[in-house]
Amino acid sequence: MYRKDSVAKEGDAGFPVESIRKRFPILHQEVNGRPLVYLDNAATSQKPLSVIQALNQYYSTDNANIHRGAHALAARATDQFERTRQMVKSFINSPSEEQVIFTKGTTEGINLVASSFGRKFIQEGDEIIISAMEHHSNIVPWQMLCEEKGAELKVIPITDEGELILETYEKLLTPKTKLVAIQHVSNALGTVHPISGIIEKAHEVGAKVLVDAAQSSSHFLVDVQALDCDFLAFSAHKLYGPTGLGILYGKRELLEVMPPYQGGGEMIKEVDFDGTTFNDIPFKFEAGTPNIADVIAFQKALEFIQELGKDRILAHENELLSYATDKLGSIKGFIPVGTASQKVSVLSFLINGMHPFDVGMMLDAMGIAVRTGHHCAQPLMKRFNIEGTVRASFAVYNTKQEIDTLYNSLSRIAKRKN
Ligand code: PMP
Repeated sequence: MYRKDSVAKEGDAGFPVESIRKRFPILHQEVNGRPLVYLDNAATSQKPLSVIQALNQYYSTDNANIHRGAHALAARATDQFERTRQMVKSFINSPSEEQVIFTKGTTEGINLVASSFGRKFIQEGDEIIISAMEHHSNIVPWQMLCEEKGAELKVIPITDEGELILETYEKLLTPKTKLVAIQHVSNALGTVHPISGIIEKAHEVGAKVLVDAAQSSSHFLVDVQALDCDFLAFSAHKLYGPTGLGILYGKRELLEVMPPYQGGGEMIKEVDFDGTTFNDIPFKFEAGTPNIADVIAFQKALEFIQELGKDRILAHENELLSYATDKLGSIKGFIPVGTASQKVSVLSFLINGMHPFDVGMMLDAMGIAVRTGHHCAQPLMKRFNIEGTVRASFAVYNTKQEIDTLYNSLSRIAKRKN
């Protein structure tokens, strides 16, 4: 039942990484006198020229407010905006485009569900389950909701390797469980969770499931119908798209009975001082002028991913991860953090005797961008009794040569203390 949602794929010798790199202008620069090696993709990925140009094009030729203008520019902007919704529908295999809601990002998607679904369907004494590995944005909204409602937050514990303890998860599930909010992939450790089984088990007790797909949607196929999740949230900026844009998917029968998240223009049918009627989904959840330019430019990011194919992207990233894990693992004093059997894109580690922040600063001086710190997962860091880690995370444009550069720099840094 907890089949491993397969992520391992063979590498692709003919993968056109060099021509892919040419499409990302930002990669071709020096930082601190060295060619930039960008390995902070779990924080945000870089954008291909097509996305950058689409933003420019929109403001140069089509800019208008959508859904209400009677003129040509408004019609063009509206068509393009709604075209992205269609593309996202196909990207996640949503049954309809009305179930695709544009948000600011994963964080806002989760907060929308906590505010709207939570306010209506979570009552005193109910239980919400999350995991010990969640990003703060999938912890704090539930804490706030539980406090407001007198509900209880329960936490799935993890092993030393960084995997969920599923036997305990099953014990936590009771008829009081109303929601399971779980990440698909850990941003701090790269663990891929067996969410199909987690969703199945939650549904057996009648609980709904929200999947935080912030770290999975850029690496492998996320099919909301195959997963049968009730909600799924992700951010465009981790998917080669613009910042300030996210997607929330929800099952129709839930979205239709959930109250609006914010009030304002666009989300209404009719407003009267005696009362207001709300718009249909998805507009009920999209109050105010949305992030039109970024929604439209996101099409180019989706086209970029489709053109390469998610399977090939994943195969390339898996090859990088296993190459980096082996190579860096040979450095004296290298301590991996998170050694789950199913991982994607992320290599978190410590260097014996050194603070992760110092390691990050030294790598930066050599032109290498990694993330250091708690990765917005402080409870996870506490579980491991550490303050933070150094995190290298890989994307479609990274190369083995860049990992060699990381290896050489890290070897020199580690030698100081080991
Ligand atoms: N969840 C996970 C697993 C993440 O990695 C992130 C971003 N680091 C978020 C949620 C929040 O995403 P955003 O900041 O784009 O809203």
